[in-house]
Amino acid sequence: MTETSIAIGVLALQGAFEAHAQALESLGVTARLVRTPAELKGLDGLIIPGGESTTFLKFLERDGFLGALESFVKDTPAFGTCAGAILLAKEVHNPPQTSLGVLDIAVERNAYGRQIDSAILNEQTKLPGGPLEMVFIRAPRITRTGSEVETLASRDGFPVLVRQGHLLAATFHPELSRDTRVHRLFLDLVREKRRG
Ligand code: GLN
Repeated sequence: MTETSIAIGVLALQGAFEAHAQALESLGVTARLVRTPAELKGLDGLIIPGGESTTFLKFLERDGFLGALESFVKDTPAFGTCAGAILLAKEVHNPPQTSLGVLDIAVERNAYGRQIDSAILNEQTKLPGGPLEMVFIRAPRITRTGSEVETLASRDGFPVLVRQGHLLAATFHPELSRDTRVHRLFLDLVREKRRG
């Protein structure tokens, strides 16, 4: 099986989808931009990018998109970054809002306050290859993780990169760094799921 036979979608309603598409292309995977529920069909995995989760929800509440996405992420690999992580979360605070509710974490939106709401850090992670650059932009904070959730990286003691089976979420923006380790991890997870 070649890399190109994996079909990965990037939700392209709003936000930082182009950079994700480029990260995938740099790994030899063609990204399919997803703008309608029908475009979810046939995908092996989906990236839900950063942006503004409330704006995402406005778009998703049309045409039954939210419901279609809900059933998609139940079983198909999904990777949410920042606003995407908020959409995947079971519990959303500050303020509470609708979500897909599949990833067993609680998130607090815009949790880092005005002064430090955006930052570039280099932190150790569980991924091989040394410290990872992490770009945080008005990031949420993961305040609880369920027993099925593995924390792969943290900032100030709070998880910033987590995995639960076929789901991956980052509160930072790996698509804005050159390092492709997090995208590669997602592709590994997609392949793992395809193998069954
Ligand atoms: N602050 C945004 C939200 O609450 C997330 C920011 C981002 O995705 N960079 O939805």
